[in-house]
Amino acid sequence: MAQVISGKDLAASIKAGLREELPQLEAKYGRKPHLAVILVGEDPGSVSYVKGKGKACEEVGINNTTIRKDVSITEAELLEMIDNLNNDPLVDGILVQLPLPKHIDSDKVINAIRPDKDVDGFHPMNVASLYLKQPGILPCTPKGIVRVIEHAGIEIAGKNVCVIGRSNIVGMPVSKLLLDKNATVTIAHSRTKDLASITSQADILVAAVGRPLFVKAEMVKEGAAVIDVGVNRNPETNKLCGDVDFINVEPKASYITKVPGGIGPMTIACLMENTFECFLKHVK
Ligand code: NAP
Repeated sequence: MAQVISGKDLAASIKAGLREELPQLEAKYGRKPHLAVILVGEDPGSVSYVKGKGKACEEVGINNTTIRKDVSITEAELLEMIDNLNNDPLVDGILVQLPLPKHIDSDKVINAIRPDKDVDGFHPMNVASLYLKQPGILPCTPKGIVRVIEHAGIEIAGKNVCVIGRSNIVGMPVSKLLLDKNATVTIAHSRTKDLASITSQADILVAAVGRPLFVKAEMVKEGAAVIDVGVNRNPETNKLCGDVDFINVEPKASYITKVPGGIGPMTIACLMENTFECFLKHVK
């Protein structure tokens, strides 16, 4: 039976630590960190993520401005809004909730955010810093995944890691972070042949596919640590589920995360940390 690693509990302790730190920071620098979140449109998933981020800001005690705009906003209007936030000395972090409507070029929008306010770590400067091992803002989900693995005391150095997924926001950056911690990393994707023969060699398996219950027991090595990043709806129950067939994989694994309550809360906790990090860049 696997030990279930609670991302929810770890996230709560990270947020509590930040909350505790806050009064000293406020006394020293005369203000609190401030996160500005831009939400375009009414996509239910995005609305719920933005709500979660606002709630986390309240829990930690930092300032949060959520700016909601209709889908009809033009790219130029959105870029102007970002420019204003870039130049606002009281805003430390800017997050534009993705995906954006099709008439807006997301890359242009991300590139417009000042790298030192890019709390998501998506700006090319921050991405380059990650790949060059230079100081920068790390993307929240990959950072949260590594924190969960380390918190559980799972050794990374020398281990075989398989990451299923090669997106810019999860698969690629988490692979780089784990490589930097001296794992031997294999990145699998939709064109990978005989996926199960690769995943079943992994001591640590990270699933970032976006397909409900995709990782089956026969794809997992006995005693592996399994990290489920997926956020999907189970087509049968319509309930939230991950990429891992938890019920059947759990007995085979040594450690496993759950959905919900795993990587999702850690992503938000790391967003709070990143906001503090950006704040310190601005006030110091
Ligand atoms: P994405 O951009 O759609 O990437 C999915 C990756 O999975 C792609 O690299 C794709 O391969 C690969 N893939 C798809 N089908 C596959 C198959 N049959 N076999 C092997 N690989 C396959 O998704 P993402 O943004 O990385 O997100 C992945 C999941 O994590 C989603 O469920 C998302 O909701 C979730 N997520 C959760 C959090 C959180 O905070 N918990 C944050 C971000 C994302 P190709 O590159 O070849 O297409």
